[in-house]
Amino acid sequence: MLKIQDIIDEIEAWAPPAIAWDRDNVGLQIGNPEEPVTGVVAALEITPDVIQEALQKKCNLIITHHPLIFQPLKNLTNKTLSGKLALSIAQNKLNLYSAHTNLDFTHGGVNFVLGRKLDLRDIGFLYQEAGSMKKISVFVPPDYVNAVTDAMTKAGAGIIGDYEACSFQLRGTGTFRPLPGSQPFSGEVGKLQHEDEVRIEMVSPAWRTNAVVTAMTNAHPYDEVAYDVYPNEAIDPKYGAGVIGSLRQEMSVEDFIAHTKKTIDTPAVRWTRGRADSIKRVAICGGSGSELLQVAIQKKADAFVTADVKYHFFHEAHGIIHLIDAGHYETEHHIVAAIVDRLQKKFQDVSCYPTTSITNPIIYS
Ligand SMILES: [Zn+2]
Repeated sequence: MLKIQDIIDEIEAWAPPAIAWDRDNVGLQIGNPEEPVTGVVAALEITPDVIQEALQKKCNLIITHHPLIFQPLKNLTNKTLSGKLALSIAQNKLNLYSAHTNLDFTHGGVNFVLGRKLDLRDIGFLYQEAGSMKKISVFVPPDYVNAVTDAMTKAGAGIIGDYEACSFQLRGTGTFRPLPGSQPFSGEVGKLQHEDEVRIEMVSPAWRTNAVVTAMTNAHPYDEVAYDVYPNEAIDPKYGAGVIGSLRQEMSVEDFIAHTKKTIDTPAVRWTRGRADSIKRVAICGGSGSELLQVAIQKKADAFVTADVKYHFFHEAHGIIHLIDAGHYETEHHIVAAIVDRLQKKFQDVSCYPTTSITNPIIYS
């Protein structure tokens, strides 16, 4: 029987919680990961309607992008909106799981989905941070190279873009003198030993390093494993903030505004005019992405589509880049269908539904 945890594992293989913003609160918010799953409803955020829908559809797992519990709760009563919703979820024996900024920062996440919605080509991250990777090297006797490499791979090392199990292996000679109390795999206590060894190098996301080192030492035959963990300034191609891509065909500014409204289905956007007469390169950050405005300018985007833009950011962009505030809900809710697609493909026996309710409280008139 499929458990809540199995669904969580699938989401987290895509959007690991460790890549979330450090002040975020992602993961299982309410519930029991050991319970069997009866069905999934996904929504941008939790509302009373989403809870009712989950109950009607007999789904005991609700997945949202926006966490219900963000600030620590001082109490759990029906006096606050979040308390009321949390109580209702718990009293109805539902489970609530949220993937927030981890789903923003992952390949194929919120911004890639929005990029495809806007019909962009060659979509890549807008901003990626160096230093999120480590290089791990270890010295292994030749007969154990495959076992150690496999263990490191299974723990998450050796992924470079679309390639897995990437390693470099170089044969050489290691020396050591076992001291009293040691239990040498080869050689004798007190005698300098020359040993045929292979140096294995693999990259690892920084947040997986402990798991990789544990797996590596468990698979290694020596009682003292010689290994190094180096800082690595290479960029992890799987994670980043915002995206940038190109329209199939250049458009006039007015056509691009109309195209944005049509493709993301919104009656209005707030925007300011930039420099370019037409639009080809488009930067995107679903939700509140104003912090990436300067990056979008540096990356020579003609337009930047985001939301929650404050007045002074429009001034900063005016005459430089076409800055378009297309709405928080409108730029993010497309991820809901992507979550459902992914889960439905993996777990064909579980019913997964995108919510039918529009959780956006904002009215344009
Ligand atoms: Zn958001």
